[in-house]
Order: sequence, then structure tokens, then C-alpha cells
Amino acid sequence: MSATPLVSPIDSQNPEKSALIPPLLGASVAELTTWVQQQGQPAYRGKQLHEWIYDKGVRSLADISVFPKQWRQELAEIPIGRSILHYRSEAPDGTVKYLLRLTDGQIIETVGIPTFAERGEGPKARLTVCVSTQVGCPMACDFCATGKGGYKRNLARHEIVDQVLTVQEDFQQRVSNVVFMGLGEPLLNTENVLAALKSLNQDVGIGQRSLTVSTVGIRDRIRQFAENNLQITLAVSLHAPNQALREKLIPSARAYPLEDLLAECREYVEITGRRVTFEYVLLAGVNDLPEHALELSKCLRGFQSHVNLIPYNPIQEVDYKRPNRDRIQAFVNVLKQQNTAVSVRYSRGLEADAACGQLRASKN
Ligand code: SAH
Repeated sequence: MSATPLVSPIDSQNPEKSALIPPLLGASVAELTTWVQQQGQPAYRGKQLHEWIYDKGVRSLADISVFPKQWRQELAEIPIGRSILHYRSEAPDGTVKYLLRLTDGQIIETVGIPTFAERGEGPKARLTVCVSTQVGCPMACDFCATGKGGYKRNLARHEIVDQVLTVQEDFQQRVSNVVFMGLGEPLLNTENVLAALKSLNQDVGIGQRSLTVSTVGIRDRIRQFAENNLQITLAVSLHAPNQALREKLIPSARAYPLEDLLAECREYVEITGRRVTFEYVLLAGVNDLPEHALELSKCLRGFQSHVNLIPYNPIQEVDYKRPNRDRIQAFVNVLKQQNTAVSVRYSRGLEADAACGQLRASKN
């Protein structure tokens, strides 16, 4: 029996029927058109509103100069849903960490990661944004800073889309990629994450294949995600090649064993035709031995997948160590010998505490 999609598929052409309740950010042209008509305005104002929100980055409806003066005044109090910049810090590698204040005073973290291209590709070929999906995180993975501060709430659709616009405006460059790897567990907030993905694709104009959602794995949610017919990339935080070790690092693994997680990932590949990325944090002496690499390859045999190794980034609360380059290379070599596709992600933004696992929505 297949699960019901959580929301209508991302490529649905159906105009949204339910009434749009502001904040407006995250709404499609169709939703905005219906909304302006409900305000007694002609349909074409919907397209204008869309352009001002997404392309011009307007922060108050009163500033939309193409709208009639009186209507602008009436609209002044209606929220668009933009956050306020609370703090910004730039690492020497160009990575920028932002702390953003939401309307209820909560602070979240977003990271902008420019990729300086090879010769001929222009000065900055890519701009990746790492977005948060929750305030804090309830998963409490042992090696991750985010969980140490506890969990507050899910982010709404507009609060996710806002992060991307904020980085785009600050860099004055179009965002090319978005990774859902900031604070929080995206699959505990599926409805808003799916709505944000749809808006990033259709309203902000980012290709589905340039959108990546990372999850530690929540039972049944990966399958439900697959049922939405997305062409996005799914990244699964594995971090261990067997159940005993995974349980030690990831508390939620007890309730959702590795075997079940991998079975659901296989279903994802069958349903979507997309390969899955497996993230694996390398912790010296814990999960980085050649036998772990061998065991990992066995787990993934015959699986359309790709392993992304993340050398551990230090956090205060625990004393894990990052393996040295030789150890990392030895791990890579075993995977390659076993024909397991692998790459190493040397995190950016370490100096600004903006690297993988270091985000905790504080200045340091
Ligand atoms: N909750 C989701 C999204 C977070 S993504 C998930 O777990 O996938 C952030 C990635 O960085 C995850 O793969 C996470 O396990 C990894 N990570 C966490 N702490 C880390 C650390 N200290 N060093 C390196 N990577 C870390």
C-alpha cells in the first residue's frame, strides 16, 4: 500500500484552492493572484506582487510603487515574512554565517557558501545556501552541536524561503544550490519543507536537482517524501556501518534500526529513480577503521548511492577527534576498492563556527 503524498506534487499545475493566509513569502503566482483578487484587485497584480517579493526582495507591501497609493497604505501591515539580520560573520574562505531573528524573537542560523570556480567559469560559479528547518533539533546526535541546545519549534514555509533570499541579496548573486543541512531535522517538518522546496523551485527558480534534503532518517517519512515525485537529492546521515555503533552515536537509531532505514532508502531509489547520498562523519578511532569501510561497502552493495565522508568538525561538549589525512585516505581507498562511489567533504566555514555540525544559532 502506498502512502498518501504529504502535499500535492511539486510540479502540480493546479491553482491552489485553499485561502492564502499571510505571511505571503513562499506563495506561488497562482496563490498570490487569488489573494489580490480577494482584495478586489485585478489578477495581473498577482504577478506584480510575485516579482516584487521574489526578485526585488521588497520588505513592506507599502513599498510596491506599481500599486495604487491607497491600496498600498491598506496593505502596510500585512506581513511578507522576512526575517531581520541579527548577526553576520565571514570566514576567511568566504563562507558567511548569518543569525536571523524571526517574528517571535527566535534566532536561527543560515550559511552562504560561495564556490570559487575553475578558470573560465567566472569568479564565483556557485552559491550554496545551507538552510535551517527547525529552531534547535530534537534528535540529539552525540557529535552535533545543534542538538545540545534542545528543540523549540518547526520553521514555517516563509521562514525557510526567507533564508535563501537573505543570502542571495547579501551576496548580490543568484543562489544556485540549497542544502537543507542547517539546524533541525527536515523530515520532522515535512509539510513546510515540501512547501519550501516547491517555492524555491518555482518562485525562486532553483532547479530541483540543485536542492538537497539531509535527514538522519525518520520512519516512513523517506517513502512519503518519495511519493511526492521530486527530483531533489536525498542525503541520509548514516555515520555507522552497523546498528550497534549507530545507536551509540544517534539516539533515534534505537527506534528505527539501520536495516529498516536502508530498506526505506532502497524504496526511495525505486520510486524516484534517484540515487541516495549517504553522509558519514569520520570520528577518529570510533567509525573510521578500514573494517568499518568494508562493512559500509557491504551495506550498500547493489545500491544506487554515493558516500559523502565528512571529517568531524570539533564542538565543545564532546571530545571526538578528526582523523588525520592518511586515515581518511585509507577509508576512501577501501570504499573505492569495493566500487562504492565516495567523495570527501572538507567542510567550509570552520573559522566562523559555520561548518557541518557546528551550528547552534549563537555567535560562537
Ligand atoms: N538533521 C539532518 C540535517 C543536518 S545536516 C541530518 O542529520 O542529516 C548536517 C550534517 O552534518 C549531518 O550529516 C550531520 O550528521 C553532520 N554533522 C553533525 N555534527 C557534525 C560534526 N561535529 N562534524 C561534522 N559533521 C557533523
